[in-house]
Amino acid sequence: MATRSDSPAGRRAPTPCPAHCPPSRSPALATPDRTPAPAGPPRIGFVSLGCPKATVDSEHILTRLRAEGYAITPSYDGAQLVIVNTCGFIDAAVEESLEAIGEALAANGRVVVTGCLGARADLIRAAHPRVLAVTGPHDLDAVMAAVHRELPAPHDPFLDLVPPQGVRLTPRHYAYLKVSEGCNHRCTFCIIPSLRGDLVSRPLGDILTEAERLVEAGVREILVIAQDTSAYGLDLRYRPDFWKGRPLTSDLVTLARTLGELPAWVRMHYVYPYPHVDALIPLMAEGVILPYLDMPLQHGAERVLKAMHRPAAAERVLERLERWRSACPELILRSTFIVGFPGETAAEFECLLDFIRAARLDRVGCFPYSPVAGAAANELPDPVPEEVKQERLARFMEIQAQISRDKLAQRIGQRLTVLVDEVDDDEVIARSVGDAPEIDGVVVIPGAWELDPGDFIEVVVTDSGDHDLWAEPVED
Ligand code: SF4
Repeated sequence: MATRSDSPAGRRAPTPCPAHCPPSRSPALATPDRTPAPAGPPRIGFVSLGCPKATVDSEHILTRLRAEGYAITPSYDGAQLVIVNTCGFIDAAVEESLEAIGEALAANGRVVVTGCLGARADLIRAAHPRVLAVTGPHDLDAVMAAVHRELPAPHDPFLDLVPPQGVRLTPRHYAYLKVSEGCNHRCTFCIIPSLRGDLVSRPLGDILTEAERLVEAGVREILVIAQDTSAYGLDLRYRPDFWKGRPLTSDLVTLARTLGELPAWVRMHYVYPYPHVDALIPLMAEGVILPYLDMPLQHGAERVLKAMHRPAAAERVLERLERWRSACPELILRSTFIVGFPGETAAEFECLLDFIRAARLDRVGCFPYSPVAGAAANELPDPVPEEVKQERLARFMEIQAQISRDKLAQRIGQRLTVLVDEVDDDEVIARSVGDAPEIDGVVVIPGAWELDPGDFIEVVVTDSGDHDLWAEPVED
């Protein structure tokens, strides 16, 4: 497996993102483009940091590079230029991005920087004055302009080397599908809207065409992502679009229902708790999309939620969860929370603990508040001391781990359909509908089995842990 120092053509473990993006439990590194590079074309190395949204941006850049005839190389010294797609959400991510740029400069010397941290070009140039160009997030044209300037494209582009589904960094059997960019909310702990702008939804027909190509190329699971997936279509005023001659409304439910017609799992991520999300639950109960909802809730105390500029009625959230579970008993709920938000009192933290005890969510990420430069919340009074944040984080995770253990133990004896991720000599790693790749648990199937990544199989659960399940195949 590649590491950053020996392979720039890769995706590093996502940096924890308190807004939406939980950390990877098992760092997933590059699946470099396996198409053999021709001897002649200009060679580019690529380092991709950050969350799945940044991964999709990287895939778009890589796709365009290959479409224009550039070769993607898996080593710094084989590259004539290195592109670093950065993350800039929290201070740790900024440091990691600056370090990656420094490493690429030291190893190669010719570096173009893009991504979220690219919005802070002054900071990058102050740390690394030798970078050739800095572009902001989601700016494919600016990245390509910088590449053309520094390393002109070959005269005859190798268009036939580019697969129709584009170049992807995820394994062949699952893919992220970005449906919109930017966000209209102004959560006070988050600077994503200032980095990526307001909501811009992709045309529905384009999304569905991309999804269909992915499935034709072997994708068995589509992970729908955006900064705010549930806002899909708002900026388009839900206008009609066409796919295969069918008129369709550009809204979340139509998107989900139509994706559900494809022969693949469809998993919804980063869903803001709007009321219309209720309409997804029947689609889950009918098996159109996976009964899995990734909904960042952030806190359980009303005053803290208001200070975050988030929807504030925790008891209404609990009522909704109950309604959803009675309509779709298989529903798996994932969420993320922040502890130690400025001004969070001991009583408000207890209120958060009460909330997670009552909500009994299946998958939970929790982050200590990180004062991201530029976030409005940094101006709030009464910052919580670091050691208090860490102590609250530990208490939160202890309670949630027990909830997770209890819920997983209830699955022993159940029959599940799982999707195979990895096949090793002595075990198979798979995932159930309740496990999103990289962030949730897995289903471990001990033994040697003749299976391939991307296979669906039936198993019976034999054991459980804090996050993972163990199972054996069902022989029908
Ligand atoms: S909803 Fe928008 S502003 Fe709020 S955390 Fe998510 S990306 Fe940031």
